[in-house]
Amino acid sequence: MDGSITVAGAKDHSALGEQQNKALTLEYWLQKWDQHNIGFHQEHGNQLLRKHMNTFLNGRKGLRVFFPLCGKAVEMKWFADLGHSVVGVEISELAIREFFTEQNLSYSEESVAGISGAKVFKSSSGTITLYCCSIFDLPRADVGKFDRIWDRGSLVAINPGDRECYARLMLSLVGKDFHYLLATLSYDPTKYSGSTCNIQCLEKVDALEERHKKWKIDYFIETLYLFTEK
Ligand code: SAH
Repeated sequence: MDGSITVAGAKDHSALGEQQNKALTLEYWLQKWDQHNIGFHQEHGNQLLRKHMNTFLNGRKGLRVFFPLCGKAVEMKWFADLGHSVVGVEISELAIREFFTEQNLSYSEESVAGISGAKVFKSSSGTITLYCCSIFDLPRADVGKFDRIWDRGSLVAINPGDRECYARLMLSLVGKDFHYLLATLSYDPTKYSGSTCNIQCLEKVDALEERHKKWKIDYFIETLYLFTEK
């Protein structure tokens, strides 16, 4: 993500470990919303989700769909319009209010027993429920189990050091026959600006050997990076 970044405990500054040291704070996200610095928002929704919607829904009706770190994702309305019920969680109250306003949905708001300072916003029809709190506090609200999770801009926005905890939380929220659809991003780390070293990729080779095949992987790439002083 762009913008100013708080670097927490940044002693180990090896270039590829760089990401590990970046802790995006909740304040950072709130500020992004306040300043309307929300380049991540997809006004027309995610086109990969649109394309794979049928695979994801698998013909089922009346599902409970969860949007972790939902922002004001317009796809929440897509699912509601198809008759599913949607639950989202988002730290920015502004994002949640903008969602309902922009989708022309009236809504109610109340506090959440068990999470101090948290609020829950519900569309008047009751099909969309958005919690305003940190995802890591959500287990203290009784949200039940979900049939579907759409994760775009969520896992990737979680600080790497918190991802295992996030994964455990997601697994605790899914029910039988769940489908979890995850959108991820990868990029060439040698091009990532902000690192303290110059990074050069010297070689990328196929390192898949017979003994690795029992792991059921189909590729295994070995990459050699050279770090030099910037
Ligand atoms: N999934 C959305 C938004 C992605 S951006 C989309 O596809 O558009 C990540 C969002 O997560 C931001 O809106 C940010 O305010 C929110 N966020 C970041 N950390 C959070 C946390 N710990 N708990 C809840 N929301 C968080």
